Amino acid sequence: MKLATLFLATSLFGACVAQDDSDLDTNEQSQAEQGELVPKHVAHVRGEAKPGGGGANNGIYYHNGPVMLGTTNIHYIWYGNWSGNTAASILTNLAQTIGGSGYYNINTTYYDTAKTKVSNSVAYAGSVNDNYSRGTALTDADIQAIVAAQNPTDTNGIYFVLTSADVNATSGFCTQYCGWHTHATIGGKDIKYSFVGNPDRCPTSCAAQTTSPNGNAGADGMASILVHELEEAVTDPDLNAWYDRRGYENADKCAWTFGTQSTAANGSKYNVTLGGTQYLIQQNWVNAGGGYCSMSY
Ligand SMILES: [Zn+2]
Repeated sequence: MKLATLFLATSLFGACVAQDDSDLDTNEQSQAEQGELVPKHVAHVRGEAKPGGGGANNGIYYHNGPVMLGTTNIHYIWYGNWSGNTAASILTNLAQTIGGSGYYNINTTYYDTAKTKVSNSVAYAGSVNDNYSRGTALTDADIQAIVAAQNPTDTNGIYFVLTSADVNATSGFCTQYCGWHTHATIGGKDIKYSFVGNPDRCPTSCAAQTTSPNGNAGADGMASILVHELEEAVTDPDLNAWYDRRGYENADKCAWTFGTQSTAANGSKYNVTLGGTQYLIQQNWVNAGGGYCSMSY
């Protein structure tokens, strides 16, 4: 099962870097040709994404596409049933306080063709609720439609579709990925969006721990997936900017690594405090000093 899952994950991943990848196998090409896959970068389930090699430079390369400059706006679309769930406070605080942090500052080591660096600036732009407009088994096309239904216009924003634990994403949530990000032209604008599933659905695949700093393993697990997609979307919004030779974006190179951890009052682990709230979020790849995973820069 491990091997089969790994192969599928690799195929999905390969499809999203098809524009410059010469080692696509026939399976990847046939899947892409059949149009079954929306190109996207996935946050792999635990144990599947392996850190890329360091080598020359900083181990990650620029492919001349845009990065997100200035303040990046976070939009939440709470999909499904979130009533009585503390996820909203946990993840809203995260969006409100990650900008300006030492953690997010890692993204300032990435830049565009004009050498303009990503800013350490994030704004929480608000949230909407979607009461199962597309049911509980979402295709990639459904997820794009959920974003499109909000008539998104913010080209400096990222629209996160956050699904409750009763909702599946049928292209591989829990078996091949825990989240992903991509972009699409919606209403004539280049809209960046991301899927982040609730690890309560599959804690062994998508949560680092079942007892979590804020007493909500699903939401605390989503925090790590969400920052993974955020930092990838900022440095590779159109899937043609920063990634390594294997197609790994910055967060992929440090997936499921957490650095130095502390123990919270309930015995769970955390590695950062933002806005007075403890989180266990994955490290990110520093594009400096030869390249390395870190919790701050
Ligand atoms: Zn990723």
